[in-house]
Formats: sequence, C-alpha cells, structure tokens
Amino acid sequence: MKLYYDFHTHSCLSPCGDNDMTPYNLVNMAKLLGLDIIALTDHNTCENCASAIKAGEQIGLTVIPGMELCTSEEVHVVCLFPDAESAKSFSDYVLSTMPPVKNRPEIFGEQLIMDECDNVIGSQEKLLTLASSISISDVVSTVENYGGVCYPAHIDRSSYSVLSNLGLITEDMGFSAVEITAEADREALTAMHPILEGTAIFVDSDAHYLENMKDAENIIELPENSANAVIEYIKSLPKMK
Ligand SMILES: [Zn+2]
Ligand SMILES: [Zn+2]
Repeated sequence: MKLYYDFHTHSCLSPCGDNDMTPYNLVNMAKLLGLDIIALTDHNTCENCASAIKAGEQIGLTVIPGMELCTSEEVHVVCLFPDAESAKSFSDYVLSTMPPVKNRPEIFGEQLIMDECDNVIGSQEKLLTLASSISISDVVSTVENYGGVCYPAHIDRSSYSVLSNLGLITEDMGFSAVEITAEADREALTAMHPILEGTAIFVDSDAHYLENMKDAENIIELPENSANAVIEYIKSLPKMK
C-alpha cells in the first residue's frame, strides 16, 4: 500500500519545538494534511512518543516512536523504533550519555512531557539539544541493538548534518538511507556525493511548529501501515557503498 509519510517531527518536548506541538495537535494536524504515518522525533528523547501513539490510535494515524539523536560530532540522525517500549529504553540510554546540563526554559524553551490528551505530566530537566556521547560510527549498531533503524537527518543543511559537520558520508558509517529537506537539490547532491546514487532518500518536514508541517506529498510503499513495516523496510535496504 502507498502511504503518505513524514518521519521527522518535533513536539513540545523539544526545547525548540512550539508548545502547541502537543501529541494531540501533532497527530490531528498530520491527519488533516492527509498523512497516513508519521514519526515523532524529539531531540535526544522519546518521552512523548507513547502519548503520540495513543493520540494517533484514536484518529487512525500511525505514529512511529522515534528520536532525532545528536551524535558526539553534533550530527543529527533520525532514529525509528518498532514500539514505545524499545524507544523508551533507547531514550533512557541516550539521556544517561548526555552531559548534566540543565535546561533553562527562559532561554531555550520548555521541554514538556504530555499525555495523549495534552495534559502536562512532567518536563525534562536536562537540556536535550546537546550532543550525546554516541559517535556517528556507532550509531547504526547502537540503534539496532534497541530494535531500531536510523539515517542521517537533513543532509543538505549547513548545520547539524553529516555533510556540514564531517564533509562526507562513508560506507563504514553503515547507513542505508538518508534524509533531505524538501528544498534540497537531489541531483547536485548526488553529483557531489556519488555514494548517494541508488541510496534510499526520505523527505521529511522536521516541523517544530504546526504551521511547518507539510501537505501529504512523500510516499512510501509498504505491505501494511505500521511502525514495524517501516523498520523492516529500512532494515531490508542495502547498505551504502
Ligand atoms: Zn536536526
Ligand atoms: Zn529535527
């Protein structure tokens, strides 16, 4: 089946995410825009994913629990998991690798944890936008150990991307897909980085505000509409070489 997807969105738990990006609002906006399946990928945490999954279930929208991990090189990587439990375990691990720097909501924004009805049930004290201690060379195997898959985020961006920070993607990083922004020039990017030839490319919104979410446009073909189907699909892709 053909599914409209967006595998990179943020909630009010990301300090830079708008407080209106609540689990309930996120899934309802996605549904309104015609999406079939989305991933919630807050910076270095999956703590709002279970609520977003529940909110999605109520309206028939599949939510993949995910995270935008910041590696030790400050490269952003989209991580996706088959279920809330594996995502939570990975989230706890990542948090344990983060420096003990507290968020200052007045500067960086709040980091709100919500239930599926948008009640605030807590907040994350550690500043979530800092680098974890997981390096780009370990990220694929580490995420796989938790049952997930991952790919480098917004590689065409001039900050926090594998190309901006490291200059290239190498086969030993072990990725089998990449993410580009809707504005990226695919041909120019592939000409400059031939390793991208034949590589699966996802186009996600990276929305931090409801108004940044995009109309359903990008399609993935899967045997069923589920998080597991996405994970299995990405696992089945050939590694970049
Ligand atoms: Zn990012
Ligand atoms: Zn992002």
